[in-house]
Amino acid sequence: MDVTIVKVSGFCFGVDHAVKAAELELKDNSKLYCLGDIVHNETEVKRLTDKGLIIINHDEFIKLHDSKVLIRAHGEPPETYKIAEENNITLVDASCPIVLKLQKRIHKAYEEMLAVGGQVLIYGKKGHAEVLGLVGQTDNTALVIDKDEDLNLIDFTKPIRLFSQTTKSIDGLTRIVELIKQRIKENYQDVDFDFIANDTICRQVSNRSKELKEFANNHEVIIFVSGKKSSNGMFLYDVCKSVNAHTYLVSEPGELNSEWFNGVNNVGICGATSTPMWLMEEIAAIISKIK
Ligand code: SF4
Repeated sequence: MDVTIVKVSGFCFGVDHAVKAAELELKDNSKLYCLGDIVHNETEVKRLTDKGLIIINHDEFIKLHDSKVLIRAHGEPPETYKIAEENNITLVDASCPIVLKLQKRIHKAYEEMLAVGGQVLIYGKKGHAEVLGLVGQTDNTALVIDKDEDLNLIDFTKPIRLFSQTTKSIDGLTRIVELIKQRIKENYQDVDFDFIANDTICRQVSNRSKELKEFANNHEVIIFVSGKKSSNGMFLYDVCKSVNAHTYLVSEPGELNSEWFNGVNNVGICGATSTPMWLMEEIAAIISKIK
């Protein structure tokens, strides 16, 4: 059986940077905590926790003192930096530079909106770590647009600045922008409305979708390797599934089902921006041996 790993796969540079930062710290055998899963991939998290990385949640972080804590690629709200300072915690800040830049833009927009009584909207997944970090730039006042119903909470009489979580789909953002414009048109035909939509989607994810579609189309079976908690993993899995019904999601080799490969000649392996290359290679090697 011919098994190929798609060219656009493996960690994006943000995740790669965070994992390398953790490995570098762990090399010195220093005790290193990480605030939340370092990547949304259980197998990679296990590889790093086996090396000594200790994953903690925010409740545990608050109680921590005199320690070293890594901030993962998703970034953190200002509150985290404040607590670190108060509790003598050394931060290894591996926030992705793209996320940090977005945080700054949102903070600036928040200050502008504050002056004119406007509002900041974030198109993203409620409760997602990156979104919490973004909302934190607005003193937790930004409205998160997760579903269409959330649009009912917007005050269309006020100026609006919209941003997107970096891993959302471009189509999803375009749709939300159109829905907002439609509501403005329906309700405020004669008003010169102040609405600015900022496309802040990271192309490290969205650029993969075109190539993945073609790749999924050209293979009989697609094995998509991703942690189930990965937003971009679920998005890119859907992209593959939309063009190839024989697309299966696995997070580790134990989830492979040999029946998927009956009578199949070629298999494609894809992954999320949080899927390590070594895991995709391991899975490709196992499938190659299936008769
Ligand atoms: S997907 Fe983009 S923004 Fe998110 S961590 Fe990767 S490089 Fe950074």
